[in-house]
Amino acid sequence: MVVVIKNQANEERLVKLIDFLKTQGVSVHESLGHFQTVLGLVGDTSRIDIDTIAGLDIVETVKRISEPYKSANRKFHPDDTVVTVPSANGDVKIGEGFAFIAGPCSIESEEQIISVAQSVKKAGAQLLRGGAFKPRTSPYAFQGLRSDGIKLLLEAKKATGMPIVTEIMDASHLDLFADVDVIQVGARNMQNFELLKELGHTRKPILLKRGLANTIEELLMSAEYIMAGGNENIILCERGIRTFETKTRNTLDISAVPVLHELSHLPVIIDPSHACGKSGLVLPMAMAAAACGAEGVMIEVHNDPANALCDGPQSLTPEQFESAVKKVMCVFDAAQAALQM
Ligand code: PEP
Ligand code: MN
Repeated sequence: MVVVIKNQANEERLVKLIDFLKTQGVSVHESLGHFQTVLGLVGDTSRIDIDTIAGLDIVETVKRISEPYKSANRKFHPDDTVVTVPSANGDVKIGEGFAFIAGPCSIESEEQIISVAQSVKKAGAQLLRGGAFKPRTSPYAFQGLRSDGIKLLLEAKKATGMPIVTEIMDASHLDLFADVDVIQVGARNMQNFELLKELGHTRKPILLKRGLANTIEELLMSAEYIMAGGNENIILCERGIRTFETKTRNTLDISAVPVLHELSHLPVIIDPSHACGKSGLVLPMAMAAAACGAEGVMIEVHNDPANALCDGPQSLTPEQFESAVKKVMCVFDAAQAALQM
């Protein structure tokens, strides 16, 4: 349920209303928007009499939220959420401008991750990605360097000052992620509800990828799991879904960006690398992301794609990435200008 408060409502009466609502067994989320204050009520709202609340003179309207996702719902929080990634070199804000997250699929060695980190930083990436725990289809394929991989990623963070993003596959590994800046939940774990609940108890930004065969509503329900635990720092990521098409690794659902923006206040990024599986398709899809209003992209970059231990065919070289950043930013600026017309 959302309670929309009238502009210039008396502060004391608003506090009284919030206190009253809390006594009704719901939690109250106050969203102070640019134009409106909205109270979002989460929990069992069946005891609350809509007409009584709607009749109060500080209340403009009361609406029930029919969608099963509440905290992630745009009705609950009309303004866009900006996720802040704290960093010693200046916080990164996902949702302001256009962000680039870049790095190899897998961390392979100290030289590799530091060299890629330096290149992507120079090219304009704000965040460094690198997989340590890798979800591979085959148990015989390279599984990632696991905890050693995280140590190397932390070395790259120290060397470049870039905040880091890496994937968690099991809640029991959470201690290893203490100095990781953004925790990624991969496509295969989007509905690992026990993991999502644990992440809800942290306050770390979570990069939540859409599952291979999950709907947009299911993605938002997974975000809701994390938010229900009190962690609202979520970045949604569209990374392609399974369809009958075989020319690309997955099918990038670019329309998920405006659809998610309509339904939710959370920032949305695109991963063109896993969506397409081919390095030649990364730039056009990243440009499409910038044109359709995504808040950023996550791109796989490898110093030697031909010899990468994982996902070489979809990885850009540092030079290709540098050129892609410039082109994608041209599209982003043009799209922003077009929207002002
Ligand atoms: C990844 O980002 O390295 C990854 C495994 O992605 P996804 O979960 O989208 O397949
Ligand atoms: Mn990969």
